Amino acid sequence: MSRFRVVIADFITDAMLPEREILGDVAEIVSLGASREEELCGHVENADALMIYHNIAISERTISQLRQCKLIIRCGVGFDNVACAAARACGIPVANVPDYGTEEVADSAIGLMLALTRGIALLNRRLQRHAGEWSYMQAVPLSRLRGRAFGIIGLGRIGTAAALRAQALGMDVVFYDPYVRDGYDKALGIRRVETLEELWPQVFVLSLHCPLTEETRHIVDARALAAMPRGCYLVNTSRGATVDTAAIPDAIRRGHLAGAGIDVLPSEPPPPDDPLVVAWRDPNDPCHDRVILNPHAAFYSEEGLLEIRVKAARTVRRALLGEPIRNVVN
Ligand code: NAD
Repeated sequence: MSRFRVVIADFITDAMLPEREILGDVAEIVSLGASREEELCGHVENADALMIYHNIAISERTISQLRQCKLIIRCGVGFDNVACAAARACGIPVANVPDYGTEEVADSAIGLMLALTRGIALLNRRLQRHAGEWSYMQAVPLSRLRGRAFGIIGLGRIGTAAALRAQALGMDVVFYDPYVRDGYDKALGIRRVETLEELWPQVFVLSLHCPLTEETRHIVDARALAAMPRGCYLVNTSRGATVDTAAIPDAIRRGHLAGAGIDVLPSEPPPPDDPLVVAWRDPNDPCHDRVILNPHAAFYSEEGLLEIRVKAARTVRRALLGEPIRNVVN
């Protein structure tokens, strides 16, 4: 059998043991460890499969150079960093790995919510820098979560897992997702709203779990934040650009938004002059204590990381061998 060439574009820079175990008998595997698309030039043209993580984006420019590619696999859930339509036009399927970190991301969303709404992050930060008294009074007022509305945008795998967790905390779960079939809300015992305008005034905590698309870009902006009740919280573990993050500092300074837990930013790592990052780093800004930033870490666990590599490699193997490919997104 002729040996195929599989290129891992970014992120994986180790000995590639999981990939070798699954693909080693049929393919030579190369990892580029790229951090910019330009670095792929000269290395991917004759790839039979291209594996993409989250450190780079693949545009039409690269896709048009692929001469014999049977699959581009996004080793993750979101595929907004791959020009899927361009790949389709070239006859190249794009697949993702939809089911490796569902629990981890839902746990992180709930973790961010609890760290904010229980005052855990704020009190820790203030005590650590000797600001104020050694007393819960620094976090006053905090509200009981039971009975409060946990609003979800995007009730897919992760949104559903987050809904079940919030439900276990006694929260009143309400969601907006125009693509979910009727009746799913009944099965889960949660509430559905038909419009975002209905959602905003109800939420105590808003958690985003939708993909980044033209519809969802800045779905939460200054206007949406203003329409949410005073003292509400925002959690984003979806994609950075679903939120207009530049609107967060002002909402926090006005006391309208009580806190924000942000795992994902529009640009990662963020530029040093990103307004949210600047406000969060400044000990004199209320965002310092009321915003939690994470480096797109919600997906991560050792088990999840191995699962993603194994599942992605198995999908590549099927594509190379001409078998039906699972989880094609284009
Ligand atoms: P999914 O496809 O199962 O669910 C996404 C849901 O969003 C679907 O139900 C879809 O109908 C809904 N949706 C689409 N457009 C919408 C819109 N305009 N308004 C409201 N809802 C809309 O995906 P998932 O596995 O639950 O993952 C959700 C997102 O989480 C991914 O797209 C990815 O961007 C993000 N993610 C982040 C991390 C992380 O580490 N932070 C890890 C994995 C996934």
